[in-house]
Amino acid sequence: MEFQFSNKMKNIKSSEIRELLKYIHMPGMISFGGGLPNPESFPGEELRNILDDIMENYVSSALQYGQTNGLPELKEQLAAYLKSDENINVDPENILLTTGSQQALYALPLIFANEGDYVITEAPTYVGMLSSLTASGIRSQSVSMDDNGMITDELEEKIKSMKSKGVMPKFIYTIPTFQNPAGYTMPLDRRKHLLELAQQYNIPVIEDNPYGDLRYSGKKLPTLKSLDTNDMVTYLGTFSKIMAPGLRTGFTVSQPEVLGEFNKLKQSLDLASDSLSQYIAYEYIRKGIIYKQIPKTIELYRRKRDIMLEALDDEMSDATWSRPEGGMFLWVKLNKDMDALKMLKRAINNKIAYVTGSAFYHNNPEMNTMRLNFTYSSDEDLKEGVKRLAKTIKEEKQS
Ligand code: PMP
Repeated sequence: MEFQFSNKMKNIKSSEIRELLKYIHMPGMISFGGGLPNPESFPGEELRNILDDIMENYVSSALQYGQTNGLPELKEQLAAYLKSDENINVDPENILLTTGSQQALYALPLIFANEGDYVITEAPTYVGMLSSLTASGIRSQSVSMDDNGMITDELEEKIKSMKSKGVMPKFIYTIPTFQNPAGYTMPLDRRKHLLELAQQYNIPVIEDNPYGDLRYSGKKLPTLKSLDTNDMVTYLGTFSKIMAPGLRTGFTVSQPEVLGEFNKLKQSLDLASDSLSQYIAYEYIRKGIIYKQIPKTIELYRRKRDIMLEALDDEMSDATWSRPEGGMFLWVKLNKDMDALKMLKRAINNKIAYVTGSAFYHNNPEMNTMRLNFTYSSDEDLKEGVKRLAKTIKEEKQS
């Protein structure tokens, strides 16, 4: 039959990154495109033991429907973990378990904003938030970034200008630590400035922090949530980068009113997140495995980051790039007259893939930018991939 799809679906495009996955499997291709953790970072043996325990001790509840807000035992463990890891004081009742933090990125815009409303994001920002906003018909104003993340003076100007037109943003979305895609981290003074503005203008903040635990150099900075004395910040965390993304377990920390709305919406999204995965996460923290696994992952990714940075220093000219202190990505800026999207075909021919920076903007993309992932490729491929990229850029310039 010929199907008629809804108007809403017309606005929803498959992400460029998902499309790119097609190329990753071409023989000989090196991809810096995906956002995948390295399977070497998965605690396979430990999770096998945990699974055995669960099947022995909790099988009737681990395979049963769970509570919409999540497994109470896991919320207890998470509250303790957040206190020790991020100095976030939270009551377990202020935590809601999500099916990946992507579920929160889908739900929170629907909770805070109506169709046609505005929110504020960084430019560039995470595609998962951009696609959620598009799906919900919510518009965004963006604030530029420099090496120190979101430029909060520009944020202030933007809020004032919006206020003067009578349209206030419904929230500010930020990834202050090891940002995806740019790898930037916001220093303490900007964090404080952002919170002051949020309080002054009464705007909720969504702090997305999937990479905070993965710091390879530099000093740890407090999360916005730990600095927040006025309950303005809704904090998103995930087990994807510190345990395994396939288990699809994330969490949202917020005020009971916000979580109450989320609970109502979640009932129509999936009733509750995967019980088995939540039991695994519970045991992962309870047994202290998380505290041993994260340092191993940090060691692996620090080496890979350093290899990529060294290769870039050796091979690339006429480009600049971020030097992230953690996370999974770095951001390359080519000469202003270059277009990374146009260049992608040549790159694929040279068997090197990346994500064009334009995928991370709602409007006015900087076409000369690209995101490189350094966690997934082998050490040899990181070196060879950067060589191929440098060759591609040279050829493109000469064409
Ligand atoms: N936010 C950001 C900034 C991310 O980079 C990601 C994963 N790439 C997510 C949210 C979603 O993570 P998950 O759904 O796996 O928890």
